[in-house]
Amino acid sequence: MSAARPGAEDFGAQLSFDRSAPGRRAVDVPAWGGEETPLPNAHLLRDSVRLPELSQGGLVRYYTALSARNYGIDSGTYPLGSCTMKYNPKVDDLVASLPGFATAHPQAPAEEAQGTLRILLELRRGLAEVTGLPEVSLAPAAGAQGELAGVLMITRALEDRGDLETRRRILVPDSAHGTNPATAAMAGFTVTQIPTAADGSLDRATIERELDETVAAVMVTIPNTLGLWEQGIEEVADLIHDAGAYLYGDGANLNAIMGRVRYGDLGFDVVHLNLHKSFSTPHGGGGPGAGPVACTEELAPYLPAPVVVEDGDGLVRFETPERSIGRLQQFHGNVGVLIRAYAYMRALGAEGLRAVSGQAVLNANYLRVLMHGHYDLPYDRPVLHEVVFSGTRQRREHGVRTYDIAKRLIDHGFHPPTVYFPLIVEEALMMEPTETEPPEAIEALAEAMIAIAAESAEDPETLHGAPWTAPIGRLDEAEAARRPVLRWQPADGE
Ligand SMILES: *Cc1c(COP(=O)(O)O)cnc(C)c1O
Repeated sequence: MSAARPGAEDFGAQLSFDRSAPGRRAVDVPAWGGEETPLPNAHLLRDSVRLPELSQGGLVRYYTALSARNYGIDSGTYPLGSCTMKYNPKVDDLVASLPGFATAHPQAPAEEAQGTLRILLELRRGLAEVTGLPEVSLAPAAGAQGELAGVLMITRALEDRGDLETRRRILVPDSAHGTNPATAAMAGFTVTQIPTAADGSLDRATIERELDETVAAVMVTIPNTLGLWEQGIEEVADLIHDAGAYLYGDGANLNAIMGRVRYGDLGFDVVHLNLHKSFSTPHGGGGPGAGPVACTEELAPYLPAPVVVEDGDGLVRFETPERSIGRLQQFHGNVGVLIRAYAYMRALGAEGLRAVSGQAVLNANYLRVLMHGHYDLPYDRPVLHEVVFSGTRQRREHGVRTYDIAKRLIDHGFHPPTVYFPLIVEEALMMEPTETEPPEAIEALAEAMIAIAAESAEDPETLHGAPWTAPIGRLDEAEAARRPVLRWQPADGE
């Protein structure tokens, strides 16, 4: 994040285009001595594409300087909530990039890809064990795609039962991630919002009132996006099943309960996981990810294709379940992400996975206790993997918004938390330290947040203008969205 040392040239201060000088080259290709083959359509080539011309040293310094301006999990604590932006063991990247995996052709015959296929099979079995649901498809490429797969599977099951005409509603709590109602709507259902009770859990009375023969499913995130356990979820599952509906589980927060509680044991019919959130794949840059779906025997015939299976003679191959909802993308899912997940699972083992969830919960609660009293905590009780504070007091008393607090945290050397989510918490500050942060990192983060709470009383203007130390200060977000400058423009207007 820091710019260059004082007095030194900051190679990242300009774009590569602005650093360009005619004739400079990063690589010299020797002249071709053989016969030249003319291009078939040489007249289509442009005379000038105005690419930056840099020496090799200039190019390396430029990108090195840019990389030093970035802030990632490799540079410091990254408390972004709901995203489980954790430190991912480097060995998992190493395993996924072994040439045998990385260069395997997606259309190679199964006989020639038995190593990769067996990893997928074992991952499938491992995820079935972790979720307590026997059947798994690794095909979905993201959590949201896993959700869509799950709801489409429910749609098919209702169709086969002859119930699809009447069951047109899906109940979704108001604390849910936006992808939950979006998924239900995309699959053609009407969304009924379930309010959150005063203690942060599902409003049981509303669920009981709403559950009737028009309900196809209830989507529940557990623990929920407030980081809270859903007390009595087993009874809710029974109510849902008695009403003839399915219980969909959003498993994005698996890292809070991994190795301790299983969705299948709680009564969930189908659940998606986000391997890029809880099984070691760097995420936040928009992918790739993996959102496997796990389900009961009843829903297995509808799983998205392909599903990895083992024949009687030990050959591992892909198959399409009988009433499959079909394919969600080309080939077999994001295999690189799946291999990382497998490496992570094998390296940690059952005890290690259990330790991850224990440490994640301990860390979130340590942060909760350290920051307690300095910010409002609308749902003031022990949490699981994350804690959602509110900047309401700072706003009311000092005119400082959560947005200002988040930007100021950059000046204090940390990545901001997730803000304004979940929607039911005013001025939400959602923080998730994850299992890999040591106590001193959590203490330093809490100290920075406490210092910012004091600054908001003493010097609100500093917060309104933050960040002051980042290479780029506060942007006009409306202007950036409406009139984005996405292209370099030559100064001479050419
Ligand atoms: C991240 C998240 C999703 C969506 O998953 P993607 O992999 O981003 O598509 C759904 N629900 C919850 C609770 C999440 O945190």
